[in-house]
Amino acid sequence: MINQIFKVIFLAFCIGYAASLFSSSTHWSHDEQKHWGAIRDNTQTEDPLMFPYAVCSIGKHQSPVNLSEENHREILNKLIFNYPVDEPTYFNSGHGIQVNFSDDYKGHLKIGNEVYPLIQFHFHEPSEHVVGEKQYPAELHFVHIRDDGKIAVVGVLLDEGEENASFQKVLDNTPREEGGQNDQSSAVINPKLLMPKTNWKHYTLAGSLTTPPCSEGVEWLVLSEPITISREQLTQLRNFYAGNARHVQALNGRSVSRKIGQ
Ligand SMILES: [Zn+2]
Repeated sequence: MINQIFKVIFLAFCIGYAASLFSSSTHWSHDEQKHWGAIRDNTQTEDPLMFPYAVCSIGKHQSPVNLSEENHREILNKLIFNYPVDEPTYFNSGHGIQVNFSDDYKGHLKIGNEVYPLIQFHFHEPSEHVVGEKQYPAELHFVHIRDDGKIAVVGVLLDEGEENASFQKVLDNTPREEGGQNDQSSAVINPKLLMPKTNWKHYTLAGSLTTPPCSEGVEWLVLSEPITISREQLTQLRNFYAGNARHVQALNGRSVSRKIGQ
């Protein structure tokens, strides 16, 4: 009897897991981003589960935004980047190129007393955040996720200029095929070498994930000074993914703050 109950629970778990796997992989692309909210998960029969990405359309705190709409200048908490080196996994997510830190990685961002573990970083081409008329050739997102699910993303804008040796490691070690993972490269990454050297002034606002499911409650911190990659590196990035950036979303009354001074 106990055995049977166990079997039923196990089966229910498997079905639930399979369903969650399916819904988390419900197909989407950047080309159809205006319609993300209307994408249906055909394994579901009830609203709102049928529309797993609905918040992409109906959310009022969506990202990215135009940072020139910043309307507050204030003394914000200093960002403290404790980003040690790691031998990460280089991952082609099917939507971009991504670097996943090791399970035992201790890197984190400190904002005031809050600690956010660094989980992965990835790239968009062109930039998602824009500053007035200026859209940068690319943007890097350092994604931090706490155990309680709270997410903070640090955005670094990429301009064309000097080449970046760490970015080249990412390009050289990321698999070409969608879904491909390379955890055997031994190529060490120092995340600090993908950030401006000293100037960590930043914009901050409450926003969302910029890809489905577009979940809100994400704390955004976009550094105001870009880093550079070479034209050749930009071409290599585009050979992986071009046009994987979400369009600018309405602020809807949100405040965009800019840290002034250190
Ligand atoms: Zn991103």
